[in-house]
Amino acid sequence: MIKILVIGSGFGGIYSVKSLLKKFKNKEDIDITLISKQNYFLFTPLLHEVATGTIATKNVIEPIREIIKSSNFHFIEAEVNKIDFNKKLVFYDNKRIDYDYLIIAIGAKANYYGIKEAEKYTTNLKTINDAINIKNRIINALEKASKTQHKDWLNFIVVGGGPTGVELIAEMYDFVSQALERNYKKLEMNKVNFYLIQKDNSLIPLFNEKTRNNTIKKLKEKNIKVLTSTQVTKVAKDYVETNNKDKIYAKTIIWTSGVTPNKIEAIPKEVLHPSSHFKVNEFLEIEKTKDAFAIGDCALFFNKGTIKPIPALAQVAVSQAKHVVKNIKLKIENKKLQSYKFIPEGYLLSIGYGYATGNVGNFTISGFFAWWLWRTIYLFKLIGLTNKLKVAFDWTINLITRRRDTTKI
Ligand SMILES: Cc1cc2nc3c(=O)[nH]c(=O)nc-3n(C[C@H](O)[C@H](O)[C@H](O)COP(=O)(O)OP(=O)(O)OC[C@H]3O[C@@H](n4cnc5c(N)ncnc54)[C@H](O)[C@@H]3O)c2cc1C
Repeated sequence: MIKILVIGSGFGGIYSVKSLLKKFKNKEDIDITLISKQNYFLFTPLLHEVATGTIATKNVIEPIREIIKSSNFHFIEAEVNKIDFNKKLVFYDNKRIDYDYLIIAIGAKANYYGIKEAEKYTTNLKTINDAINIKNRIINALEKASKTQHKDWLNFIVVGGGPTGVELIAEMYDFVSQALERNYKKLEMNKVNFYLIQKDNSLIPLFNEKTRNNTIKKLKEKNIKVLTSTQVTKVAKDYVETNNKDKIYAKTIIWTSGVTPNKIEAIPKEVLHPSSHFKVNEFLEIEKTKDAFAIGDCALFFNKGTIKPIPALAQVAVSQAKHVVKNIKLKIENKKLQSYKFIPEGYLLSIGYGYATGNVGNFTISGFFAWWLWRTIYLFKLIGLTNKLKVAFDWTINLITRRRDTTKI
C-alpha cells in the first residue's frame, strides 16, 4: 500500500486530492489521507461578496466529505503540529500518521507587519468568519450612524491596495450606497468616506499598467480616496496613523495588506526560508527532505531565471497541486521528475457591481463584459454543483432587486 498524505484543505490541498484520485483511478494500492484544521473548502475569490451581502455565507464553502467520496480517501479534521521528515511522520492531537509521500498546502494568514494593534482593531478578509465580521461591522456602523451624529461611523478604511483590498472597497461602496438608498434613508451618501491605503506607489502591482489605470479611474468615480505611497504605522480603535503623520479616523478598519505563511509548530528550521515559506526545488520538493512537497501560499517558488517569486494565488496552488501529483506518479514509477513553471491564466478583478478589468493573454479588457466574464469564470470554478446553482441564484436575485443582505448577525 502506498500512503499519500495531504495537509490543508484549501486550493492546493483539495486539488491535490482530486488529481490524486484521477491519476490513480482504480488503483487500490493507493491510500490518500487529507488532514486539515477545517472540514470544508473555502472559495476565497468570492469572499468579498459574502462580506458585502450579495452571496449567502454558506454558498462559498463546501464540506470536504461532500466534495470527495472515495473508498481509498480518508479525512482527518486536525491541526498538524509537528513533522518528522526523516521518519516520515506527521503529528496531530497526540497522534501520529506515517506517509510515503507528503504534500503540504497549509496556506497563509494575515501579515500585520508587527503592528500589534492592527490585529486587535482591524478585520481581515481571509476566512469565512472574517467575511461575516466585515458585514457585521459595516451594518453596525450604519445602525450607529443613524442614531448618533458621530461622523466616524460613516468613515471606512481598507489598508492594502492589492486585488483583495480593491475588490473589497469597491463592493463596500456599492453595499453602503444601496443600503442607504433602501434602508437608511436619513443617511446621505455624500457624508460617507472610503479610504484605500496602499504603501506602494501603485495599486495592484501584479496587474499591467492599463489595468491599474482602469482601476484607479473606476475607484475615483466611486469617490473612493486612494492614498498610494502611504504606509500605516499605527492602528488604534478608531483611527490609523500614516508615515506622513496623518491621522485618519474611522470606526470600520479592514486590513488586507499582505499575507505570511501559516506555520507548523515543530518543524526543522532548515526547510524554511526566513520568511517562513517552505524552501522548494524546481520539482516543488521540500529541500533537505525525501518525498515531501510544498505548494501554494506556504511555498516560495521562482520561475527559472526570474528574481521575483511567483504570486500567492489560487491559480498557482491549483497548477502546483496538479504538477506535484504528476511528479509523485513519476517517482512511484522510478522516472525522472518534471520541473514546474507557473504560466498565468490571466488576471481579472471586479471593481464593484457591473465592472471588471484585467488581462487575458495579451489583451486588457474592462467594463461590463469583463465583469460578466469574471463572474462566469468564478461560477464555473466553484466546487460543487449545488454551490454553483446557489451563487447563480444569489446573483440573479441581486440583479433583479438590487437588494443585499443587511442583517447583522
Ligand atoms: C479574499 C481573497 C480573495 C482571493 N481572490 C483570489 C482570486 O480571485 N484569484 C486567485 O487566484 N487567488 C485569490 N486569492 C488567493 C487564494 O485564495 C490563495 O492563493 C489560495 O487559497 C492558496 O491556496 P493554499 O492551498 O496554498 O492555501 P489555503 O487555500 O489558504 O488553504 C490552507 C489550508 O490549510 C489548512 N491549515 C493551515 N495550517 C494547518 C495545520 N497546521 N494543520 C492542518 N491544516 C492546516 C487551513 O485550514 C486551510 O484549509 C484570494 C485570497 C483571498 C483571501
